[in-house]
Amino acid sequence: MSHDSSPTSPSASPDAPPATVTCDNCGGAVPNGAIYCPHCCGADGRQGAVLRGAFVGAVIGTMAGGLLAALWYSLVGPERGSWGMVLGVTVGCATTGLMLGMIRQRKG
Ligand SMILES: [Zn+2]
Repeated sequence: MSHDSSPTSPSASPDAPPATVTCDNCGGAVPNGAIYCPHCCGADGRQGAVLRGAFVGAVIGTMAGGLLAALWYSLVGPERGSWGMVLGVTVGCATTGLMLGMIRQRKG
C-alpha cells in the first residue's frame, strides 16, 4: 500500500499564529487577537483607548482649527476678524476632533 504523506513534524505547525503579538506602543506581549494592549490601556483597555483617541482627536482638531482660524484671520484682516472668532473656530474644531476621536475608538 502506498502511504506517501510528507514527513512533517507531529507537534509544531508552521501556519499556526503566535500566541502573543508585540505591542507597537510599549513592546509588551499582547494576546493574539486582542484589540487593545493590556499594558498600555489597562486590563480592559477600552476606556484608555477611548481617552487616547479623544486626546489625539483634540490635538489634531486644535491644530486644524488654529490653522483654519489663522488662515481666515489673514483673509479678512484685523478690521473684520476678531480674536473671539479665532478662539471660537479653534475650540469648535478641537471639540469636533475630540468627539470624532472618541467615536472612532468606540467602534473598535
Ligand atoms: Zn502596549
